Order: sequence, then structure tokens, then C-alpha cells
Amino acid sequence: MATSARVVPVPIVVSAPSGTGKTTVCRAVVGADPKLEFSISHTTRTARPGERDGVDYHFVDEEAFLALVKDERFVEHAEYNGKLYGTSHEAIDGPIARGCDVLLEIEVQGAAQIRERREDARFVFLVPPSLAALEARLRGRGTDASEVIAKRLAIAGNELSAVSGFDYVVINDHLEDAIAAVREIVAAERSGQRGDAVARHGRETALARGAGALAELPSD
Ligand code: 5GP
Repeated sequence: MATSARVVPVPIVVSAPSGTGKTTVCRAVVGADPKLEFSISHTTRTARPGERDGVDYHFVDEEAFLALVKDERFVEHAEYNGKLYGTSHEAIDGPIARGCDVLLEIEVQGAAQIRERREDARFVFLVPPSLAALEARLRGRGTDASEVIAKRLAIAGNELSAVSGFDYVVINDHLEDAIAAVREIVAAERSGQRGDAVARHGRETALARGAGALAELPSD
């Protein structure tokens, strides 16, 4: 039976613990899809080499960030590793007004706020294949000192326990497979025909197939 195509684009939130390879996956997915844009967040952290203001983030100082919070310009905002990050209404509604879906690459506290405030949003959780793989990836980046890695791993443990709020779960074991899975999810949500994507990547089925690092979390 033919179903009519969805006409309103959606925000797609992708969250994952730091070191899961989220940025690589998200860049590949957005880069291959002209109807999908990145939401550009605000942050108080300093730009890394190669990052551009207004492209990778809107880099602002804390005073400017807090003024935006006060003016209710953010859909969500959170502190991560001592810095502030936030998604403005404009970051989501700009792409949507242009007829594009919009991908938000944000951490889990922000995702929880979006869940409360945007009924139209869909949530994808990217999971590392194991905690050892996550640690190896963080070390391999060579950008962080050991204490920072230890801190990021502790944050990752907490972040992984947020999985229950997500519609879809993708284990980032093989990069190409993870990219293909997220693209499939975006395409399904875009068409309004979610059945196959939910069957393949919906949280319950994905976790039944294999939980990656989630299997290592203490159960409560
Ligand atoms: P990084 O400093 O490595 O770019 O990002 C640190 C963390 O903040 C990552 O998990 C990233 O996804 C998250 N993040 C980036 N932008 C936002 C945002 O607008 N809101 C929230 N809540 N998290 C964000």
C-alpha cells in the first residue's frame, strides 16, 4: 500500500560517548546527503586547530552564552567537561525552514532536554563495541592526557546508561556499517516509512542482537 511521503523535515539527534567515533559517522552521513544539515551549536570551549567559528560551532564566551540562556534562545544546553554547549532554536529551525532534515550531534543531557521539548525529534544512540575499544580510541587520538582520558571514560559509563531514551541503537563496530545504518534511519524518517529501520535498528531489536559496550555496564 502506498503511503504518502512525509513533508515536514525532522531533527535527528545523534548521541554517543566521547571516543565512539560519532563525529566521523555524523560527518559522513551529512556529507553524503544534500537534504541533511548539521545543527551548529554554541560552545564556550576554545576552537581546536582547523575549527571555524560559525561552521563547526559558534564559539562564544561564558557571558555571551549565559545571556543567550537568559533570552531563551536555546532549545537545550548542558555542561560537558567544564564547558557549556547549547543548541539554539535557530540551529534546528533554520535547516527545517530550508526543507532539510537537521542532525544534532550532542551529548546525552542535551538529548534528554530535546526529548522533552521537540516531539518531532528522533534519537539515535551510537555505542562503542566495547569499553576497551573506547579506551583504545581515546588513547589513539593522542589529544588527551591520561587524566582526561580517565575522566572521559567515567563520563562514557554514565552516558551509556542513557540508552533507554533513544529510538535507535547503532553499534559502531565497523565504521562503514555504522554510517550505512544512520543513513538508513535518516532515509526512513524522511520518508515517514520507519518500519524497516525500526526492525533493523530500533533500540530493542538492536540490543537483542548485541549490545557492544552496553553489555559491560553493571545492571541495577
Ligand atoms: P567537543 O568539545 O568534543 O566538540 O564536544 C563535546 C561533547 O559535547 C560531545 O559529546 C558533543 O556531541 C557535545 N555537544 C556538542 N554540541 C552540543 C550541544 O549543542 N549541546 C549539547 N548538549 N552537547 C553538545
